[in-house]
Amino acid sequence: MAQPRTNLTINPQRLWDQIMETAAFGATAKGGIKRLTLTDDDKRVRDWFRAQAEALGCTVTVDEVGNMFARRPGRDDGLPPIAMGSHLDTQPTGGKFDGVLGVLGALEAMRTLVETGYETNAPVEVVNWTNEEGSRFAPAMLASGVHAGVFTPDYAYAREDREGKKFGEELERIGYRGAEKAGAYKLGALFELHIEQGPILEDEGKTIGVVQGVQGMRWYEVTVTGQESHTGATPMHLRRNALLGAARMVERVHGIALAHPPGVGTVGLVEVRPNSRNVVPGEVFFTVDFRHPEEDVLDAMEREFRAALPEELAPLKLECDEKRIWNSPAVKFDPDLIACVRHGAEQAGYPTRDMVSGAGHDAAYVARVAPTTMIFVPCLGGISHNEEESTTFDECAAGAQVLLNAVLEYDRRFAG
Ligand SMILES: [Zn+2]
Repeated sequence: MAQPRTNLTINPQRLWDQIMETAAFGATAKGGIKRLTLTDDDKRVRDWFRAQAEALGCTVTVDEVGNMFARRPGRDDGLPPIAMGSHLDTQPTGGKFDGVLGVLGALEAMRTLVETGYETNAPVEVVNWTNEEGSRFAPAMLASGVHAGVFTPDYAYAREDREGKKFGEELERIGYRGAEKAGAYKLGALFELHIEQGPILEDEGKTIGVVQGVQGMRWYEVTVTGQESHTGATPMHLRRNALLGAARMVERVHGIALAHPPGVGTVGLVEVRPNSRNVVPGEVFFTVDFRHPEEDVLDAMEREFRAALPEELAPLKLECDEKRIWNSPAVKFDPDLIACVRHGAEQAGYPTRDMVSGAGHDAAYVARVAPTTMIFVPCLGGISHNEEESTTFDECAAGAQVLLNAVLEYDRRFAG
C-alpha cells in the first residue's frame, strides 16, 4: 500500500558540522582536502563513516573493491534497496564538497529516517564508492565501474599509483577489501547528490539541478602531413603547409560544435613540426574533443568532422591520419527517478533547472545496471577540483532535503 507523503526535515546544522568534521581527514593549509584513495586519511574517513552508520543501526557491508553500503532494512526487506551516495576520496588539492556532500547528505537523510522512526517499504542504503577521482589510481570511477561490470576486480587490483603501489595491496593494507562480490545484488535505484562543478545554477539563481544524464564525449587525434621547406625560398603556390590545414580544421571543429547546440568542440593541443620560424611546417599533430548529450548528434558531428578533413586538406595538398581514441557514451538517467527529484524539489519549494552533467560521475556507470539519477546544487563560481571549492550552508541543506524527499517519493510510488 502506498504511504502518505511526509514532511520529514533534515537537520542542516548537523549536516554542515559533519562536512566540517570530516574535512579534517586530509585537511590542507588552504582550507581544502587531500584525501587520495586508499591512503591513511581515506581509511580514517571510512572508519568514521562506518561508525556513524552503525550508530544509526545500519549494517555496513564492504565489497571486494572497497565500496561501502550502509543498510537500513525496509518493511519488505526482500525488495532491492534504494541507494543514495557518492564518494569520499578527493583530488590532491580538492575541496570540501565534491563527493563528500553526496555521502554526508545521504547519511543525514538516513539519520532523519532513523530519528523519526519512518519505515520505508524498501531497504535504504548509503553508498561510498571507492576511487571516484582516479588521481592516485587511474582510471576514475574505478570501483563503481567494477560494480557495473565495466571493469573486473582483477583489473582494479592491478592499478598502480606513481610509486608502483597496487590498488589491491593498498585496499588490503587499510582493511577495506571486503568479502562481498561487487555488484552481486542489484540496487533498486541510486540517487547521487553532487555539487554542479560548473557555473550554470549560480548564474541563473537556481538551487537544484535536475540532472537528465551525462553528456557523451569523443576524443580524436589527427596528424596532418605536408612538406617541410624553406620559408624564404618556397613560393606560396608551391607550399604544402600542414599548419595552414590544421588551422582551417580548428575553425571547422568550432563551427561543427556551434551548429549542434548544446554541443561543444575543442582543439586543445597542437604540436607543430619542426616548429621553427623559417621552416614551412611539415607536420602538425592536434587533438579534438567533441561532447553532446545525444549519441546520434555526436555521430553527426563525427561525420561532419571526418568530411571536413579532405575538404580542407586536399586543396592544400596535405595528407592526414585520423583516429578516434576514446568514446564515452552519453548516459540517460531514469525518468521515474528524475520525476521523484523534481517532485522533491517542488515539495521543498526550491527553484530547479534541468541539466546534463558535463563531468563524469559514479552514477554514470551505475546507470548501466540500475535506475539512476543525480541532484546538483550550485558551487561558487563554478569552481571545483580546487581547494577554493565552496557551496553554502543553505545549498548543502537544500541538496540533502531534496535527496530525502526524492528517496521517499520513489519508495512511496515504486517500491512494494
Ligand atoms: Zn565527485
